[in-house]
Amino acid sequence: MSSIFTKIVNGEIPSYKIAEDDRFYAFLDINPLAVGHTLVIPKKEVDYILDMDDDLHADLWNFAKKVGKAVEKVVPCKRIGITVIGLEVPHTHIHIIPINTIYDMDFNQPKLKLAAPEFEQLVINITKAWKELGFGE
Ligand code: 5GP
Repeated sequence: MSSIFTKIVNGEIPSYKIAEDDRFYAFLDINPLAVGHTLVIPKKEVDYILDMDDDLHADLWNFAKKVGKAVEKVVPCKRIGITVIGLEVPHTHIHIIPINTIYDMDFNQPKLKLAAPEFEQLVINITKAWKELGFGE
């Protein structure tokens, strides 16, 4: 059975898409720890990041770096926190999280509840930043 993230890539489940190429897909986390919390995934379904093919793994991180830069351009923060957990969804994903303190990376804290227009505005702003940074259409 396909993972929930494969269904997102295939458009069977909607997502707030930030960026995509032939191998990677970035979209807003639906239960964000912070405004702009984004997930970056390989389209190829690999559960555990350490099982990834070396080249795909390296390129995933390079793609995630660009996503981080685009998010950082839009969401005021001290830094972008980046982490991999993967205990909930068995499809490799990198969390890109705007942070100001270490506590902003605490996954035990309550998640934000954003309304659809807030997600939509983030998509507009971050995809604009993506283009301005020269990362593509
Ligand atoms: P992890 O597997 O790293 O523990 O966390 C999975 C992440 O995926 C969580 O932050 C959760 O909010 C996010 N997530 C789970 N299901 C969906 C979904 O259907 N859509 C989106 N956009 N995010 C999801």
